[in-house]
Amino acid sequence: MYTGDEVAIVTGASKGIGKAIAMELTQRGVTTVLTYVSSSTQMEETLSEIKNAGGKAIAMKVDVSDEKEIKMLFKEVKKLYGRLDILVNNSGITKDGFLPLMSSAKWDDVINVNLRGTYLCTREAVKQMMIHKKGTIVNVASTSGISGARGQANYSASKGGIIAFTKSLALEASQYNIRANVVAPGFIETDMTKSMDQATLAQMMELVPLKRMGKPAEVAKLVSFLSSNDSSYITGKVFTIDGGLING
Ligand code: NAP
Repeated sequence: MYTGDEVAIVTGASKGIGKAIAMELTQRGVTTVLTYVSSSTQMEETLSEIKNAGGKAIAMKVDVSDEKEIKMLFKEVKKLYGRLDILVNNSGITKDGFLPLMSSAKWDDVINVNLRGTYLCTREAVKQMMIHKKGTIVNVASTSGISGARGQANYSASKGGIIAFTKSLALEASQYNIRANVVAPGFIETDMTKSMDQATLAQMMELVPLKRMGKPAEVAKLVSFLSSNDSSYITGKVFTIDGGLING
């Protein structure tokens, strides 16, 4: 349940899962700050969809791995709204490759956006939330961060890191009434999975008892539950959403 006064930041909300989370939160009355880094046209479309549906949102162009840009984002949100109730760290990238051939650039890029980005945003959010003694943080990881995935050593490490990070965060932040949880999706229909080898994806579907990919809106409902008061006694936990994926 939301009161309608809440303010949220959702990173990587131009498309895919982040867009669905932004749509879900704004439909529930949460004023939402959406970030993107390169998809400006998609971001504009997302903003107008939210506004047409009666939601309140603004967008900011921010690279989550850039400390200066992140500090500016949180400063701006504080100036505009004077509060921050919810942070959803959703931005993420893949740069897959067979480990012996994986360049250090591919390793660094994925760790920087996925793990460092989550750390930078969370650090700034907690500084604001601890003053008000209230807040929820949802970090989007992946089943790859639990079970590993071929060709995704960098991505799996970043997502496994997010899980461990969130568990530590939950322990530290609970004294300020800040909760933190992880949502770990399996295979969801977005641009990220569109770029995967489709034969491999079809093979992976054999491991999904529900025999289909998930939809961004399905992930968004779980994120919304964990961001709201409805989950008030849940912190430091990992929620997989994967159609029952075997070894997920
Ligand atoms: P997507 O459609 O590719 O969207 C990724 C989002 O991240 C975009 O909004 C993108 O912004 C943003 N982003 C990328 N690099 C960024 C950076 N340096 N700084 C700030 N934002 C950046 O992917 P998705 O599938 O919705 O993924 C969303 C999250 O779910 C990711 O963390 C991903 O790892 C996770 N996930 C996805 C799946 C899946 O099957 N799709 C499964 C498990 C976990 P621009 O568009 O502006 O570049």
